[in-house]
Amino acid sequence: MTPNLDSQITERLALDGLRFTRGRREVVEALLASDGPMSANELSDVLGDGVPLSSIYRSLAILTDAHILTVHLATKGLARYELSEWLVGHHHHLVCTECGSVEDIHVSASHEERLREVVDAVASVASFIPSSHALEIDGRCAQCQ
Ligand SMILES: [Zn+2]
Ligand SMILES: [Zn+2]
Repeated sequence: MTPNLDSQITERLALDGLRFTRGRREVVEALLASDGPMSANELSDVLGDGVPLSSIYRSLAILTDAHILTVHLATKGLARYELSEWLVGHHHHLVCTECGSVEDIHVSASHEERLREVVDAVASVASFIPSSHALEIDGRCAQCQ
């Protein structure tokens, strides 16, 4: 974890009177190392037996309440968590309908610009002013093809 990210999270938790404890830090580190959002069970597999599932759930709830994590509801309503965009930047998701994996995808500035144009055009039909967007592409991942 970069010192900058560490202090951003520490300061955000402090606003709620909370500390960046070791348990919360372990969850954040595991999510940083992942190539996409993770469920509580997936985090448990990575963190091992030393970290009870109940404490993972507690950390996830606290970090989500503090807007450090964002919940991503992928296929079959399974909740997966990731660091919020204000911490790690804007990106989109590839969702595999075969194995259920969810992968982050960062698009180029020019593609992002074209996406924003399409979003603006679609929203303006409903007189809606978009502030953000999230693209989710369903399909089959490289392993499942
Ligand atoms: Zn797959
Ligand atoms: Zn993501």
